[in-house]
Amino acid sequence: MLRIKRVPTVVSNYQKEEGEEAARRGGGCGRNCLNKCCIQGAKLPLYAYKRVNKVETEKGVPGHENRKPPVAFLDSLLLGEWEDRMQRGLFRYDVTACETKVIPGEYGFIAQLNEGRHLKKRPTEFRVDKVLQPFDGNKFNFTKVGQEEVLFQFEASEDGEVQFFPNAPVDVENSPSVVAINVSPIEYGHVLLIPRILDCLPQRIDRDSFLLALYMAVEAGNPYFRLGYNSLGAFATINHLHFQAYYLAVPFPIEKAPTKKIITSNGGVKISELLNYPVRGLVFEGGNSMQDLSNTVSDACICLQDSNIAYNVLISDCGKRIFLLPQCYAEKQALGEVSPELLDTQVNPAVWEISGHMVLKRKKDYEEASDENAWRLLAEVSLSEERFQEVNALIFEVIAGGDKINGGVIENSHGEADVNTKSAEDVDAITKAPALLWCLGLKSA
Ligand SMILES: [Zn+2]
Repeated sequence: MLRIKRVPTVVSNYQKEEGEEAARRGGGCGRNCLNKCCIQGAKLPLYAYKRVNKVETEKGVPGHENRKPPVAFLDSLLLGEWEDRMQRGLFRYDVTACETKVIPGEYGFIAQLNEGRHLKKRPTEFRVDKVLQPFDGNKFNFTKVGQEEVLFQFEASEDGEVQFFPNAPVDVENSPSVVAINVSPIEYGHVLLIPRILDCLPQRIDRDSFLLALYMAVEAGNPYFRLGYNSLGAFATINHLHFQAYYLAVPFPIEKAPTKKIITSNGGVKISELLNYPVRGLVFEGGNSMQDLSNTVSDACICLQDSNIAYNVLISDCGKRIFLLPQCYAEKQALGEVSPELLDTQVNPAVWEISGHMVLKRKKDYEEASDENAWRLLAEVSLSEERFQEVNALIFEVIAGGDKINGGVIENSHGEADVNTKSAEDVDAITKAPALLWCLGLKSA
């Protein structure tokens, strides 16, 4: 079993040390949480989004007089409620006072000095060799947060139009999806999207939950508001299904990296490979419908987690571009393969760091932050080229629908028959190769 020690991030004010939690149990909880003890009769704002077929075609469709939403999702609701919680002193520190700078260099990596984030917590052991672990109701999970940390419920509209109810009852039977603050924000508007919170789903992507996250990016409609996902083993700290999101008005380095198209799926989703970026990854965009894009990405994620490969996801550009990044940093760390200098920084390369927003804990590291240091850290996060190609082969086989890969379901892009474009035969050979035992979870057995 592989484990690493790290200081867990406190995402809720109700996230106590586990011992404390157990000691206080018994009788009503009296903290207005989301559990059975307090949820009956609770009311929270409800934003019901409109299901759309395609992001781009939404504006200017004849017959649809762009009916104005009853509330501006990002500016009024999300950021407005977030600021309200800041006024009420619910955050552990003032993130707007944290120093941030863009590091000179080709992509402009962003460095933030955040000394407050990891204070007051003891390091905890995290198991990093299992991407899927069962939900454990005894550990901290989001049903334990106070209702004041929840900003609103986020659901699909029943009647096809955006709707907003400032005071909607919480329908316990239907397990609402909610948006809550992260009390240890790394940027303005840092929130958590928790799909079907009362169902207590473990941290694992499924098609419906990913589509919900994509809808949140669409609804925000601002390229500076991005969502991210960390799997277990890739620096998620809480095993209760959640996405993160925040607002930061600069382009992320990963968004500026060039890409090379590899294939187009049957549903019209273009899949490319990142080029000239320290972490190898895939970029998904397009698709005949939003559902096609969402399903293709979630199927790729499901393939990775079922193969016990840790990964991060960034939903970018209002839901139009999605980055998928398998990683191996925590595993290397557990095996003692990461240099002491990198470990000393205590930087956890989760989705934001991988995307180029480096959250640094020590003033020294902030002052010495450079393009070179960012690349050096992120290079340790990336899979090797060989391994990355093996993982891609697994993903493409799943997306093509198993054995149908030779039946033209996935087409190779023209004019790019170079080293990185594998033939169907290669793909077949790789997926059957014994080297893949590594990623099927048998490596450390
Ligand atoms: Zn309670």
